[in-house]
Amino acid sequence: MTAQTEITHKKTTRRTFTLTSLGCPKNRVDSENILHHMTQGGFTFTDDTSVAEIIIVNTCAFIRPAVEEAIAVILELRQTSPSALIVAAGCLPLRYKEELAVSLTEVDLFVTPSQIQILPALLNQHLSKKGFADDRMNFSTVKSGRVITTPGYAYLKIADGCARSCRYCTIPQIRGPLRSTAIQDLVHEASFLADRGVKELILVAQDTTSYGRDLGTKNALVKLLSALENISGIEWIRLMYLHPAGIPKGLRKLINESRKILPYLDIPFQHISEKVLRAMGRPWKGDYIRKLVKSLRDEIPGLVLRTSVMVGFPQETDQDFNELLDFLREYQIERVGVFQYCPEDGTPAFVLGDPIPARIKKQRANEIKKLNTKLTAKRNRSRIGAIEKAFIEGISEESELLLQGRTWDQAPEVDGVLYVTEGTLETGRIQPVRITYAHGQDLFGTLEIA
Ligand code: SF4
Repeated sequence: MTAQTEITHKKTTRRTFTLTSLGCPKNRVDSENILHHMTQGGFTFTDDTSVAEIIIVNTCAFIRPAVEEAIAVILELRQTSPSALIVAAGCLPLRYKEELAVSLTEVDLFVTPSQIQILPALLNQHLSKKGFADDRMNFSTVKSGRVITTPGYAYLKIADGCARSCRYCTIPQIRGPLRSTAIQDLVHEASFLADRGVKELILVAQDTTSYGRDLGTKNALVKLLSALENISGIEWIRLMYLHPAGIPKGLRKLINESRKILPYLDIPFQHISEKVLRAMGRPWKGDYIRKLVKSLRDEIPGLVLRTSVMVGFPQETDQDFNELLDFLREYQIERVGVFQYCPEDGTPAFVLGDPIPARIKKQRANEIKKLNTKLTAKRNRSRIGAIEKAFIEGISEESELLLQGRTWDQAPEVDGVLYVTEGTLETGRIQPVRITYAHGQDLFGTLEIA
């Protein structure tokens, strides 16, 4: 009896795993799927890397700095956990699988996003080669699912891949063509999330506006939103990663009539100069974007716009950059993320090289950050005294005396936070808060008794 138990015990201990999730919200959804399939597959999660027998790194690889970060994380984990089985998942294997299998020998197993469901079986296969197989584990019956890792909100990945071909972007070659998830499957997933206390759904994809085109469904995004609107328990629906050339006609009306879809739109413009936009392979008429912003603001009262811009693209001159700065200032874009151009092998723009010095790119990025902070601070100061709807996530990381949350126009992880200094609030609920102070992107407030 003892011999058997000892072997079984040895098998079970190798069943602890941990997960490091890198990259974008779409990757976080994949990580939540990995957590689900691993735990359903009989593995035990631990957040203590030092005891985990299996370490999974869900990687990002869309730009060189992300590739370097993923490799650095893996090398460090290999150092701190020499005997652990290391799994590299996500975009890195998708982009560089063949090369990495030779060069990154610190990794025991490479898995792609489409293999998440069979990961426990792949691991068991791998373990059996090392004599640690556990035949009690049964992988065939594990349904799709996810372990929610965000407080009260959840990302809903509505599609993967991309049908567009922006010249600087590696996504189409890494994640492949656009693949939308059917509306009924997304409604099922969103109901699953609502049943587990999720109040805010954040719709993400590489290009949310192209949703459903590959399914041949007309106006699919509007149809999806109308279906999600009816899910009880969900109070906020937020749209991220909208392409400026694809904003569906019915969306404005739907937002205005909706009790849940926030008048908050994330639309990466990338630039405003016609010359630079054309070189990027993006809708290049600058006036197109100006007209779009004007019509959205005219038709959606109280709209808050988030955008991402890229500085340092090969053809960008001082004049082009100043045009971008003027556009952001004149159209008062509320939330702006800025990236410095990074030439990526395999993209059409790679042949253009990287003529703009890093010093200039950094300077331009800092100027945009400075402008964004100034515009946000001015807008936030004008909200002092106002009562705003806020989602309370929990005790603040800064201090146990503060509760932390977000106002309706603060997307998680990118738009600053709300600190609540007074009032007993229920975590995971949306409640009225009176804004009392503003500091940069962050707001402070007290509970407003309704
Ligand atoms: S739309 Fe976005 S994901 Fe698609 S190619 Fe362009 S930048 Fe890349």
